[in-house]
Amino acid sequence: MIVTRFAPSPTGLLHLGHAFAALIAFDTARMAQGRFLLRMEDIDRARCRAEFEDAIVKDLAWLGLEWEPPACRQSEQFEDYKEALEKLNERDLLYPCFCTRKDIANEVARASEAPRLNQQGLEGPVYPGTCRRLSKTQRQERVASGAPYALRINIEKASSVAGSLAFQESGHGPNGETGHQRVQAKLLGDVVLARKEMPTSYHLAVVVDDARQGVNLVTRGEDLFHATHIQRLLQCLLNLPEPTYAHHRLITDPSGNKFSKRDNSVTLHALREKGVGASEIRDQLGLAII
Ligand code: GLU
Repeated sequence: MIVTRFAPSPTGLLHLGHAFAALIAFDTARMAQGRFLLRMEDIDRARCRAEFEDAIVKDLAWLGLEWEPPACRQSEQFEDYKEALEKLNERDLLYPCFCTRKDIANEVARASEAPRLNQQGLEGPVYPGTCRRLSKTQRQERVASGAPYALRINIEKASSVAGSLAFQESGHGPNGETGHQRVQAKLLGDVVLARKEMPTSYHLAVVVDDARQGVNLVTRGEDLFHATHIQRLLQCLLNLPEPTYAHHRLITDPSGNKFSKRDNSVTLHALREKGVGASEIRDQLGLAII
């Protein structure tokens, strides 16, 4: 049975782009007589707010969506993420990184004559690996000194441990990628998997939750297509089942830009207040009424 989910972050009000993603996940499950789940991605405790969570629930119900209760909250799953992190740590795939954003920017700029180090990752500059090259003693000394650090995954090592991997794309990536996709986990570099103030990261939480919730078809915007490469690698390393992916186009404003959480005029709340109906939203998004 197909199990899909919509996984918003309660850091603002939902807009048309979110409505599209939510409706696609819901419609896909419904048409296959499958299950549709809701997950609040609220690990960023500094930015997530209970009132946004309430507003999301209200907006989705107004759109006509029904999900299996209860909705999952990532902020209630920190123990699971910790366990996953420990598994990766036991395999010696993580290292502490003491760099600040500024250190990383300086290192990338300094290495500008060494193109190998200056590659642009898909989420900004690829981490240049400064702390990966610290010796065991240097690491221990710095941790013992109380210096704050993040845990990064050594992607080179993790990829060689996992061997060659692939995922199945039944939608399309930003460049029309579809079908069998060979995993290229190095695209994003040594991503951060945990920080002191946030003991997990988007990538780690998503794979742990998709597995726990039994999600077997991940529908989401094509802007997350590249994240799938690292997520598939994490699934393999953590021995989690492999979902199929169906990335979809992004809904943009008339000038072709992604909607921003800061633009209140296109929130579902504002549209509803203006008297727009849920079926008009479907219409505007080019989605049939099912
Ligand atoms: N929480 C993510 C977002 O709001 C979506 C995560 C996912 O679908 O994997 O963009």
